[in-house]
Amino acid sequence: MDIYDIIIVGGGPAGYTAALYAARAGLSTAVLEKSSPGGQMTLTGDIDNYPGFDEGIDGFTLGMRMQKGAERFGAVTLYAEAESLSLEGKIKSVRAGNSEYHGRAVILAMGAYPRRLGLSNEEALTGRGVHYCAHCDGRFYKGREVAVVGGGNSAAEDALYLSGLAKSVVLIHRRDSLRAEKIYRTRLFEKDNITVLYNSEIAIIEGEDSLKGITVKSTSDSSVRRLYPDGLFVSVGREPATGIVKGALALDRGGYIIADESTGTSLPGVFAAGDIRTKSLRQVITAASDGASAAYHAQRYLESLGGE
Ligand code: NAP
Repeated sequence: MDIYDIIIVGGGPAGYTAALYAARAGLSTAVLEKSSPGGQMTLTGDIDNYPGFDEGIDGFTLGMRMQKGAERFGAVTLYAEAESLSLEGKIKSVRAGNSEYHGRAVILAMGAYPRRLGLSNEEALTGRGVHYCAHCDGRFYKGREVAVVGGGNSAAEDALYLSGLAKSVVLIHRRDSLRAEKIYRTRLFEKDNITVLYNSEIAIIEGEDSLKGITVKSTSDSSVRRLYPDGLFVSVGREPATGIVKGALALDRGGYIIADESTGTSLPGVFAAGDIRTKSLRQVITAASDGASAAYHAQRYLESLGGE
């Protein structure tokens, strides 16, 4: 049985930074990644708040470069989706399809995925008018009308991005003020083709095979209105990808793995890095920072085992 020193689940900035640090420290290191390196970053066009790239960098390229940086020191990428984990013993296992991978320590860096609105039709119309990634799917709406739902930085960023492609953008937010930071709010209000609908919630997504319209309910009175955007972009935050560790590790109320700056979890030899753990700021740079920390603490854990 092949046993890696460290298995990292998830190839985003946390995962590949952990891999870089671990492999560079001489540990045998494997990263399990289900699609392409970069994680959520690949859904972002220009990343302009990751230092070292004075003109910004697109998320896909940054992901590839992080992977290369780790592979330079011998980390390997296994393209597979982790389906179940066995984390209790000294040798930990990750099952993916018909394969099982073993490691002395595990770093969980699966990140988070877009939250759904939870409306009927939402799933059926995903990709047919309802979308979760403006940078991936916005190009289908050149010169057309779109709506974005959400009030945070992501929704603001999506609305701004789409305003460069679409004829008009309606940003629908359930409260009377945006959560998005001032820099985004200023940019939003400068755009002629963005309208913000406050105190508004989508109640119904209409359409069978394609999006036909949305019913928007006021959150401050009983008024209801119908809108007919060609595309609806849902940007209402993220859920942690912790389904496979439920019951095995301590999670907070939001489902994030409870771990402090050391990234240590409720089980020895298991670390949680990046967006998947409890933390106040989820950014590429804080994910990368967690990756370094996780590799460092995993290495110390392995040293504490001695020759066992
Ligand atoms: P977020 O900050 O959690 O905002 C989610 C937004 O969606 C909130 O405005 C929330 O409304 C709304 N919302 C949640 N559930 C909803 C529902 N069921 N129906 C309607 N609206 C709903 O999430 P985010 O914007 O995805 O950002 C996530 C993290 O990434 C944040 O820490 C953010 O700062 C960071 N980020 C940073 C940058 C940057 O700095 N360049 C860019 C993007 C994201 P309420 O306001 O009423 O709660």
